Amino acid sequence: MRFLQNHPQLLAQAYNLTRRALLLVRGWLQPGGRMQRAFVAVEAVSKGALFDCRMCGQCVLHSTGMTCPMTCPKNLRNGPCGGVRLNGNCEILPDMPCVWVLAWERSKLLPVYGSQILHVLPPLDRRLEGSSAWINDFSGAADRAAAGWQLP
Ligand code: SF4
Repeated sequence: MRFLQNHPQLLAQAYNLTRRALLLVRGWLQPGGRMQRAFVAVEAVSKGALFDCRMCGQCVLHSTGMTCPMTCPKNLRNGPCGGVRLNGNCEILPDMPCVWVLAWERSKLLPVYGSQILHVLPPLDRRLEGSSAWINDFSGAADRAAAGWQLP
């Protein structure tokens, strides 16, 4: 899986193909609908294996070089904390490369989505945890920012 993670172009193409296929059935993709349970199961297995996905329900992989920001021990979604070690590893888990160092390097390999790493992401809606990110994406649930949040 590390090979694929380090070649995010392939993962971005898979993302595009999946998105195009799901567009055909978007009418069925509603939170709490019949498809929810199946999507949660498929996402947990497939994205779990590929990205170590933590099922946050608001996927931002294309904004982070196809690197899951929820694998950061601090769950940071807008760049690294101040504790990145000189060797690029995490201050909490010294043997683990900082998720944001990886995200930055991998974003440079993504011609279409790479620049999205510069966008500030809204706070995570924890109420969506454990639900299907695809369904939340298509239904608009993932775009409902927290009250009071405004993009700069
Ligand atoms: S950003 Fe959320 S949905 Fe996407 S891979 Fe990470 S935990 Fe899973």
